[in-house]
Amino acid sequence: MCEVIVLFNGFSTKLEDRIMKANCTCTLIKASKNIIVDTMTAWDRQKIIQALAEHNIIPDEIDYVVCTHSHADHIGNNNLFVNAEHIIGTCVHRGELFFDINFKNEGYKICPEVKVIATPGHTLDDVTVLVETTICGKPTCFAITGDLFEKEEDILNPSIWKELGTVELQKTQSQMRCNIIDVANFIVPGHGPMFAVTDNIRRTIKNQVLA
Ligand SMILES: [Zn+2]
Repeated sequence: MCEVIVLFNGFSTKLEDRIMKANCTCTLIKASKNIIVDTMTAWDRQKIIQALAEHNIIPDEIDYVVCTHSHADHIGNNNLFVNAEHIIGTCVHRGELFFDINFKNEGYKICPEVKVIATPGHTLDDVTVLVETTICGKPTCFAITGDLFEKEEDILNPSIWKELGTVELQKTQSQMRCNIIDVANFIVPGHGPMFAVTDNIRRTIKNQVLA
């Protein structure tokens, strides 16, 4: 049994010129390991402790922290989880020990249901967490993508992800978005609520791959 629980829906809005209000989506995965994906800003410590408590988990029981990339709004409370192994983009460590993982070819399997793969685009070191489970007897894949997908709206309005990403990696990002949408039934984006993937969405994303 494997559960994907969005603890906080991320958001991002432009307030005025050069000021943005944003926080990331924070997700708990209850599988054979307890995993938290993206730990918001340093100001959210109590919120996270509280939200985990509502699912009967204390920070010491988290086995893995995954930060989809190392931007400030995704790493703020990593040090709440000192019993966990930390996967920050493609950097994997536990305390002072750093592990060399070949993300490019194999990805990193945390447990049978959960795998972390490299999906560069928003930054060079972006990763996506893939969770394979079954819902009502049907195999179902959740992709927790960080800012590879900013929010559902960026599908019809690609300027949203393009403006926030790395210009030199736009082509890569468009291809990664296509790869992920092909395998996922649900996307948990970096700054918006989870959404279901439809055939229509798949077609749209395919047509947006930059040559
Ligand atoms: Zn972000």
